[in-house]
Amino acid sequence: MKLDVDVLRYLSKDDFRVLTAVEMGMRNHEIVPAELIDRIAALKHGGTYKVLKNLLKHKLLHHDSSKYDGFRLTYLGYDFLAIKTLVNRGVISSVGRQIGVGKESDIFEVAKEDGTVLAMKLHRLGRVSFRAVKSKRDYLRHRSSYNWLYLSRLAALKEFAFMKALEEHGFPVPNAVDCNRHCVVMSLVQGYPLVQVKELQNPDTVFETIISLVVRMAEHGLIHCDFNEFNIMIDDNESVTMIDFPQMVSVSHRNAQMYFDRDVECIFKFFSKRFNLSFEENTEESDASDGDSDAGVRPRFSEISKVTGFLDKELAASGFTRKDQDDIEKFTEGDLEKDLSSDEEETETASNDANAKHLDSLCLVDQQEQTVTCDEKGEAEKNQQFAEAGQSN
Ligand code: ADP
Ligand code: MG
Repeated sequence: MKLDVDVLRYLSKDDFRVLTAVEMGMRNHEIVPAELIDRIAALKHGGTYKVLKNLLKHKLLHHDSSKYDGFRLTYLGYDFLAIKTLVNRGVISSVGRQIGVGKESDIFEVAKEDGTVLAMKLHRLGRVSFRAVKSKRDYLRHRSSYNWLYLSRLAALKEFAFMKALEEHGFPVPNAVDCNRHCVVMSLVQGYPLVQVKELQNPDTVFETIISLVVRMAEHGLIHCDFNEFNIMIDDNESVTMIDFPQMVSVSHRNAQMYFDRDVECIFKFFSKRFNLSFEENTEESDASDGDSDAGVRPRFSEISKVTGFLDKELAASGFTRKDQDDIEKFTEGDLEKDLSSDEEETETASNDANAKHLDSLCLVDQQEQTVTCDEKGEAEKNQQFAEAGQSN
């Protein structure tokens, strides 16, 4: 998706006020009636309709008149709201080239005022949800108030919370800088995804480091669930950084063992295929209890001494609740259980796509963040979390 942040320069205070009004309206309307937008925005001199036309022109809104005259935010509109907030907070001052495209995220380089380059991940849950993915359809059917803003925001919050907690426990992850709406800002990892690395000086050492991370995470009560060559970054010194956390689960999850084993198996398979490391067959008889000397033996979930509680206590401290976890798990379950080979295909196309897209770095306007003063404001503040909007629908 093209993120032409240049448009941000030309958006006026009124434009942002109306865009924010649409966002507020979406807390309980899939399509926000035009009159409601006008009421929430309460522009001093009127003119909401003219502004709506301008936002529509820039593809920040989608117009839907099938049931009534109404609008909803596009991803781009939501991106702009998040980016503008981050600019106003002084977290970033410019957006640069796109460095990654996942199935449900876009990653860009961004810069701080002092020139430090960071990475910004925009979550796009729901991007593939309208395709015939059965588990998601089932989920949506049971959820009358499906809302991609809510899910993308939840994915970002979860990723931010997990990254921060892992970082605090000394895991090699990007530094979690800030989070707003569906957007996470983190340090830029120097290096490449392991999938792009054809040769390593010390494949054994890298392999052991990676496997010990899976084990150590489990000891802390967590399973990555998408731990593979796409989500492990390697730098020139062959240091490892893990990324991509929205699908993580607790070791107390009912399918924990399956997820743990699958993460382990992915790494064993990859190192065997790419770097010709040889391992014992994964049989019931193979025994991991002999300790470090058996580096090629798969660690067993049942033999890990787990410290649960990490997930609930520390993550809740970052604003990510048990309910959030349950909600997002329901949605990502289909992904977790999918065949990983399809991931490979899609990611490869995606990275080609990423290379084709280059966005020039530019400075964004630094306007004060809009506050909406209107009747709905109190209500909107109470509903600060889309979670609540999700329920009230
Ligand atoms: P997805 O959930 O869509 O798979 P990821 O978090 O795995 O998203 O990011 C996709 C790609 O973007 C990664 O494979 C990597 O190349 C790049 N990327 C993500 N985060 C960073 C970062 N902090 N620094 C550098 N590159 C990153
Ligand atoms: Mg990934």
